[in-house]
Amino acid sequence: MELVYQDLGQGITCIETYYQRPNLACCYMLEDQGEVAFIDTGTARTVPLIMALLERKGISPGAVKYVMPTHVHLDHAGATGQLMELFPNAQLIIHPYGARHMIDPTKLIAGSIAVYGEEAFKRDYDELKAVEESRVIEARDGYQVTLGQRKLLCLDTPGHARHHLCFWDEQTQGFFTGDTFGISYPEFNTDQGGFVFLPTTPVQFDPDAWHQTLDRLMSYSPQRMYLTHFCRIEQTEAFARELHRQIDDYVDIARNADPDHRYQSIHNGLNSYFRRKLEEHGCQLSDSEIEGLLELDLGLCAQGLEIWLQRQA
Ligand SMILES: [Zn+2]
Repeated sequence: MELVYQDLGQGITCIETYYQRPNLACCYMLEDQGEVAFIDTGTARTVPLIMALLERKGISPGAVKYVMPTHVHLDHAGATGQLMELFPNAQLIIHPYGARHMIDPTKLIAGSIAVYGEEAFKRDYDELKAVEESRVIEARDGYQVTLGQRKLLCLDTPGHARHHLCFWDEQTQGFFTGDTFGISYPEFNTDQGGFVFLPTTPVQFDPDAWHQTLDRLMSYSPQRMYLTHFCRIEQTEAFARELHRQIDDYVDIARNADPDHRYQSIHNGLNSYFRRKLEEHGCQLSDSEIEGLLELDLGLCAQGLEIWLQRQA
């Protein structure tokens, strides 16, 4: 795979991870005064790209001070163990609820195989490596990371997952949001701007917590958000309003689903919801192009809502 990255200025580089397809997932490198951090990691398949980027920029692996997955879902944290082996001076910053899964990934592997199946797990994630406990920092809400002159504030941001952190970068007035501020694929951009949708990936969707988290993020008046899916967005107010609406709409779709065919019914409901939204957004893509772009997410969102409904009962 070819190394593809974008310099976003002020020491931030967005790296294509080639998870599933180009433009689906990225991770970020931050540099300040010779110190380096990676926010999200991609999967084991991303490791050679990250190493190639360091070489291209003339940065030694020893300069990496932190590896910081926003949460332990594998498109975000899948390469953590491999990177920690390659970066001898790095510490892992992770939400307290995620730490044990990084130290012993057995449950995470089992959980991921349950969601994706064994074949897809092997294909997309290859393997998960454990991280030595002595190198793990459990970052609680308010924990501050120092990188060169830069300060990154860790916020506990439940809603998508209970083990989710967002990182506030005061220097660029932006948050690294993982999945908390939704997904925005560049293919859906129109003259109305970016198109955002809510990823209710199994198994910890929490609508009330998510509303509160969005309000909390917006209380910092962020100028930009660095999404993992995909790259930087600047329409933070409009995205936040849309995500609030979608939380409520998803809940309605789930609650109104046919109880005898729950998954299919939620899937159909989300599918027509997205189609309508994309039409309103002025999207010119064909039905099959839209299907190709949303197929994976529709399945995961429907699964996550189904599990949430079961938990309510
Ligand atoms: Zn994700």
